[in-house]
Amino acid sequence: MKTMDEIIAFCKRRGFVYQGSDIYGGEAGLYDFGPYGVELLNNIKKEWWRANVQEKSNYVGLDSAMFKNPEVWVASGHVNGFSDPLSECKNCHTRIRVDKELGKIGVHADEKMSEKELQKLFDANKSKIKCSACGEGDWAEPKMFNLLVQSNLGDFTGENEKPVYLPGEACQGIYLNYKNIVDTTRVKIPFGVAQIGKAFRNEISPRNFLFRTREFEQADTQYFVKPRENEEPYQEIKQRHMDWYVSLGIDPKKLRFTQHEHIVFYASDAWDIEYNFPSYGFDEIEGIHDRTDYDLTQHTKFSGVDLNYVDPQTGEKYIPWILETSAGLGRMFLAFLCDAYTKEKVGENERTVLKLDKKLAPIKAAVFPLLKNKPELVEKARDIYKVLSSEFMCEFDDNGNIGKRYRRQDEIGTPSCVVVDFDTLNEKSKDFGTVAVRDRDTMEQVRVKITNLIEYLK
Ligand code: ATP
Repeated sequence: MKTMDEIIAFCKRRGFVYQGSDIYGGEAGLYDFGPYGVELLNNIKKEWWRANVQEKSNYVGLDSAMFKNPEVWVASGHVNGFSDPLSECKNCHTRIRVDKELGKIGVHADEKMSEKELQKLFDANKSKIKCSACGEGDWAEPKMFNLLVQSNLGDFTGENEKPVYLPGEACQGIYLNYKNIVDTTRVKIPFGVAQIGKAFRNEISPRNFLFRTREFEQADTQYFVKPRENEEPYQEIKQRHMDWYVSLGIDPKKLRFTQHEHIVFYASDAWDIEYNFPSYGFDEIEGIHDRTDYDLTQHTKFSGVDLNYVDPQTGEKYIPWILETSAGLGRMFLAFLCDAYTKEKVGENERTVLKLDKKLAPIKAAVFPLLKNKPELVEKARDIYKVLSSEFMCEFDDNGNIGKRYRRQDEIGTPSCVVVDFDTLNEKSKDFGTVAVRDRDTMEQVRVKITNLIEYLK
């Protein structure tokens, strides 16, 4: 059974993910993606963009600025309402998230419940919750804790300067640009806008590795529909987003939908796509929300700009309803990685292999000369590496015996290893001008003509 501790150790050992500010002792809830991690992350983003923009004729992309006019976060409800319920251990001052701790002892609660409802549930159950730091169980009254991260822009000497906020969610940029997009492109309702952007949350207890961090990326789509024409597209979007994970290799048995029991007052439906993480169990990777006309109504009210849509055919005027999908890239990354991480027996030995979909693999091919001390093999292998690396991410490795080199590539999920051997160079051999290509999953080798290699690997 794989555990999350094993996967976290693997991520560090093989350069996928490092603790943020590591040499300063780290900083809670912040992580850096290492050399292989950034490749995997970029490949996930590329596939997500392909599925949600490139292959969708009625979706367009966007990249909006992180800093926004501070009023945006008032209009969105974040300044007053973007809060988690927090309680403090009276003995050692450790803070806990009340809804999550209640969940751990089997009491259903979430941050969308009213303060009163949560308080009541917490009072009834808090004696069962022990402080993880000191073991006591004496908790202070829960308080709502705002998650927005404040920053400053400008010189801040003027009396009227307002704080600016880092984005609490990436999607607001889409609402702000909805009118620009309608006015400057040929989109017509129904249409979608997709964006990958950073979000920052002052999480009280960042935990579970990439699962709950203070800085993360979100991949969002907002689909604008005519009022009350939400039901059918909502079902289609929900299923399509679930299918995307499966199409990239995630085991469907490890995925499930969960409907929210408590939804914000303006929403009409909300579901999560959850993945069954090792050690953590099922938890959310993506939210799919039917948000009605809330967002554009709020921004109309606060900006004073009319965000009504005028149907070009009928002249009908309305505030569109929005169907939102929002997935955390870190959680997606973790789900793909956990799902692919495999230990298997090979004869007497065990190998670790990352069975990532080839589209997601950080390195697509590794090129080896069979022997390091034969210049003609090394030279040919370097030539091949040069050609291949202009097409996709490749690695050259001549270090250690060939078995070890295979294992190193298996661990990081490289689908193919290309070996230049004596047959490659020997004009008398039937395999002259070919290389051995070894497959990550079957571990079988085939001979491939160098002239066909790029096509073959693609
Ligand atoms: P949770 O209930 O776990 O706090 P949420 O319902 O508040 O999450 P949303 O606001 O719907 O999350 O955000 C959409 C997505 O952003 C989530 O599905 C998740 O993948 C990701 N996400 C949210 N908060 C974090 C976080 N602190 N760290 C990493 N990813 C996050």
